[in-house]
Amino acid sequence: MSVFTHPDYDGHEQVVFCHDKASGLRAIIAIHDTQLGPALGGCRMFPYASDEDALRDVLRLSRGMTLKSSLAGLKLGGGKAVIIGDPHTGKSQALLHAMGDFVDGLGGRYITAADSGTGDADMQAFAQRTRHVLGAAPRATLDGSIVSGDPSPSTALGVFVGLQAAVKHRLGRDDLTGLKVAIQGVGHVGLSLARRLKAAGAELWVADIFDANVQQAMEELDAHVVRPQDVYGLDVDVFAPCAMGGILNEQTLEVLRAPVIAGAANNQLAKPEIGAELQRRDQLWAPDYAINAGGIIDIYYQRIGGSAAQCDAHVRSIAGTLREIFTRAVKEGCATSIIADRLAIERLQAPLSQQRLHA
Ligand code: NAD
Repeated sequence: MSVFTHPDYDGHEQVVFCHDKASGLRAIIAIHDTQLGPALGGCRMFPYASDEDALRDVLRLSRGMTLKSSLAGLKLGGGKAVIIGDPHTGKSQALLHAMGDFVDGLGGRYITAADSGTGDADMQAFAQRTRHVLGAAPRATLDGSIVSGDPSPSTALGVFVGLQAAVKHRLGRDDLTGLKVAIQGVGHVGLSLARRLKAAGAELWVADIFDANVQQAMEELDAHVVRPQDVYGLDVDVFAPCAMGGILNEQTLEVLRAPVIAGAANNQLAKPEIGAELQRRDQLWAPDYAINAGGIIDIYYQRIGGSAAQCDAHVRSIAGTLREIFTRAVKEGCATSIIADRLAIERLQAPLSQQRLHA
């Protein structure tokens, strides 16, 4: 296993292999780029089949965080951490503390947060060993209520305004009344998005592998429930993937008819060429790391101590970023996936004086 010649190595500044004998912790932290600020990205816990799988994931995810923060106009770089292990059975306080110590050892070059397989309680355990962790403390919302550090409501808000921008661009509609939307995965983000869409008058179809979640969407929002395998082929206006990555692939494209694809899931394209294929089919794809940036924006405001109103305004600016991507994609005859990468890299490389950075 090599790092510098690895196909997913993209000039990463630092890759740290972490091992703690006493707790059995095995983890990798990748810092991709700190030009704009400290590398912020979640800590994932997953039972990777091999070290190679874990390395590939952390190299890709950390690069993705650089692009996401750059595109969102944040003074943050890109980083990510992965713990190799089962999140249901492999956690102990000692393991989480050891991970916190490794994060602390980087002196703030990497700031961690929750990701798949980790949550609030884990962040609190990290916080006992390092201050370079976000999402561990409760904070106030716009209406003054106190909530946990969970950023998923902000992610859902960003997806909602981004979906509106996509519908306007592709279907020429401002009003969502009667808009047919299929949501894949009604977990933290998907359910919150479903509530916003329902309030705006949309008709919902939902699929989830966890029965209690679809049940809730059906009872609370009068959503139509479909089997997970049937969610791609529905005759709807919008497909909103809010479960897992890789769902836009050769097989799903055979049945996917929705003219707009806009959802929260990370790494939706199984491979980069799928972006161009969607463009050929005139299916408008809202690039994942542009539309789902609400979570990182939220975490950023937790870090700088910004107000709920500032955070809300910044999350809503995702719509403007997407409009820019859609317009440029038409003008340059390119896939939205290519334009998003271009825009993120342009913003990263622009002299600091020209950057539209927030706070
Ligand atoms: P979650 O675990 O709360 O929800 C995911 C839901 O998808 C669950 O209900 C799960 O049962 C369901 N699911 C899993 N596999 C499925 C399948 N094959 N078919 C249908 N449903 C399936 O996660 P979340 O926090 O809501 O995040 C959803 C997605 O958005 C993830 O890809 C995540 O990486 C991405 N994302 C989340 C945030 C955030 O703030 N939480 C931020 C950016 C991106």
